[in-house]
Amino acid sequence: MCIAADIWSVSWAGAGEPVTESVLSRASRVAQAVGRAPAVSIDQIERVPDAQTDSQTDLQTDPWTNPQDGRTTSSGSGATPPATPAAGTGDGKDDKGAVIESGSGRFTVVAMPAKALRPAPADGRTVRYTVELEGGVDIRAEDFATTVGTVLTDPRGWQAKDGVRFVNVSPADAAKGATVDLHIALASPDTTDKLCAPLETRGQVSCHNSGRVVLNLRRWVLGAEAYGSDVAQYRIYLVNHEVGHGIGHAHAYCGGKGKVAPVMMQQTYGLKGCTAWPWPTAKPA
Ligand SMILES: [Zn+2]
Repeated sequence: MCIAADIWSVSWAGAGEPVTESVLSRASRVAQAVGRAPAVSIDQIERVPDAQTDSQTDLQTDPWTNPQDGRTTSSGSGATPPATPAAGTGDGKDDKGAVIESGSGRFTVVAMPAKALRPAPADGRTVRYTVELEGGVDIRAEDFATTVGTVLTDPRGWQAKDGVRFVNVSPADAAKGATVDLHIALASPDTTDKLCAPLETRGQVSCHNSGRVVLNLRRWVLGAEAYGSDVAQYRIYLVNHEVGHGIGHAHAYCGGKGKVAPVMMQQTYGLKGCTAWPWPTAKPA
């Protein structure tokens, strides 16, 4: 099983959000470990020593919701409200301007706008994916799906690099039980933590866990230092990086000062002297 969490670089204060001391120390230690021991599997490093490893089994067997059968994820409870479209401004923030911390815990499979997709390659390893959005996170489903679809089918993306062929699974087909290789979900920080466990995402970062890409709403909204104020570019990176895990790629590292950062580098941590680049394919000279 390939699981990977991406700890947000806590040295960056640009987001202006409070981060607890324990998050700071944990992320700092992880970042140091990553920097010092590149030969060790980062997926192991990112695994948290005190986590309950048996929860991995639970995750694998948890149902993933779709709107028709109304099943809930592991984070669901009897009190969860139905997954209804967000009624806010679509910016992922509450009325005080803070990133929404908790959603409904229920996910809706989102329809992919046709305009988002370029034609898939004629051959290649087929990866069937859904786009799923947690209820209550105040992100417009069409916006999220459009970003995911355009990134996955961009000529600079994994299809060109890795011989894969992404095929979107519609809400109707998902409801009928169609095969889904990769669930690509946008989740509130609280739900991200639940779905990524035993990895400790601590409300800050995203992960891939057992066929699920869980994109953390906090990073989706705020981005990361490596991309400055260009949140759109960070989102491209985030989708490519976590989907990269989903199709079998481990972490890569900065190849030297001034080099272009590989997409499988944890750019969310910082760039280690590299320059930001959000695509799997080489940056044009
Ligand atoms: Zn990663």
